[in-house]
Amino acid sequence: MVHVGIGYDIHPLVEGRRLVLGGVEIPHPKGLEGHSDADALLHALTDAVLGAVGEVDIGHLFPNTDPTWKNAPSRVFLEEAARRVRARGGRIVNVDATVLAEQPKIFPHLAAMKAHIATALGIPVARVGVKATTNERLGFVGREEGIAAMAVATVDLPE
Ligand code: MG
Repeated sequence: MVHVGIGYDIHPLVEGRRLVLGGVEIPHPKGLEGHSDADALLHALTDAVLGAVGEVDIGHLFPNTDPTWKNAPSRVFLEEAARRVRARGGRIVNVDATVLAEQPKIFPHLAAMKAHIATALGIPVARVGVKATTNERLGFVGREEGIAAMAVATVDLPE
């Protein structure tokens, strides 16, 4: 039985932080603020995978009050979501995501992001989609106040 999950995340862009998206560090004057590395793309993907198997969301699994996750690479969250799929006897069929960012340009980094995500999930890179769009200068993303991401995941689970 194929299950689908959805995920969304956003983090503020601030000075004095690294910008990490999809596990890839991108040179930029500002970075994403958060308890972990604030990788909004990996957070959205983690919630999509967790949602597909009916698990609680990333904020409950990895609370930002827990010092364990302070500045943690968000890859560990995605790996744990994938582990929970395997623990249910399931397999991730594919994931797809869109990054919403006015700046910087995301396209040059998409291939590296896909490779990182595929490795974390333990699936071929051909099953990982990542796209990027600006917000046409509209709203908080358009004003470069933050970067958002949305994601879906499909998981094949035994009935
Ligand atoms: Mg987040």
